[in-house]
Amino acid sequence: MKFYSCDVLIVGGGGAALRAAIAAKETAPGLRVMVVTKGTLGKSGVTAIACSDRMAFHATLPYTEPGTADSWRRHADDVYRIGGCVSDWDLAELHGKHSGAAFEYLSRLGVPFVRKEDGRADQFITDGSEYARACYTGPRTANHIEEALVRKVRTMDIQVIEHTMIADLILSEGHSRMIGAFGIERRAAKQGEETSVAISAKTIVLGTGGAGNAFKVHVFPPGMDGSGYAMAYRAGAELVNMELRKLAGV
Ligand SMILES: Cc1cc2nc3c(=O)[nH]c(=O)nc-3n(C[C@H](O)[C@H](O)[C@H](O)COP(=O)(O)OP(=O)(O)OC[C@H]3O[C@@H](n4cnc5c(N)ncnc54)[C@H](O)[C@@H]3O)c2cc1C
Repeated sequence: MKFYSCDVLIVGGGGAALRAAIAAKETAPGLRVMVVTKGTLGKSGVTAIACSDRMAFHATLPYTEPGTADSWRRHADDVYRIGGCVSDWDLAELHGKHSGAAFEYLSRLGVPFVRKEDGRADQFITDGSEYARACYTGPRTANHIEEALVRKVRTMDIQVIEHTMIADLILSEGHSRMIGAFGIERRAAKQGEETSVAISAKTIVLGTGGAGNAFKVHVFPPGMDGSGYAMAYRAGAELVNMELRKLAGV
């Protein structure tokens, strides 16, 4: 068995996980931050692999329609409404308020968002939004975001452990807090070439993506099995927005 120790353990290697790892390190450079992902970093998960005709990154920028002081609120309203009014309003609000800063951050990391001649982002209406907020690089917007985040992570003192699937979280005696996680490192396809891994951590962030593979018909890459939901649930977390999972029979 292998043992590791860190201050912040980030599970997953997609957009959510990598952005969390960067934020942890930028906020407190002295923290020992570790990213553990079950695939190859930058080549597994939805952000790294998924694409569609014109992949959208919705952002309310200073010049985004309608251009009023409450443009962010209209963005949040759209997110909530389009989500069938079952999504978390607080999250929709955070998204509306901070999407512009997220766009600027990713631009600085080198994501090649398409821009007009005047330098403003080219934005279009999609996904039922009231106004044109969708920024894009083309069919591979998410992949470009992943590449930029991976590049940034590689420049930082962040330990990355690949090919290691976290199976469960470890709780303290009395189950009052999480103190680590354990999983399996699988470097080769051959059976028997697996090593158990235990990681102690003061803080754990799950960025393990969704459970698209639970649906009979889906457009998700392999491995999106919802294992993060399961381990969070077993650790006592309340799961929200599970309505569609229920329809899939999970
Ligand atoms: C075809 C398609 C088109 C899309 N188009 C858009 C769009 O236009 N606009 C938009 O906003 N969104 C779009 N999305 C959704 C968007 O891409 C995803 O919501 C987003 O990329 C998810 O990021 P994430 O970091 O949460 O998950 P992911 O990128 O999936 O990352 C999850 C990571 O966790 C790892 N992992 C999972 N379980 C474990 C475990 N137990 N142990 C260790 N590692 C684990 C995975 O290997 C992966 O690295 C689209 C999705 C698809 C499939």
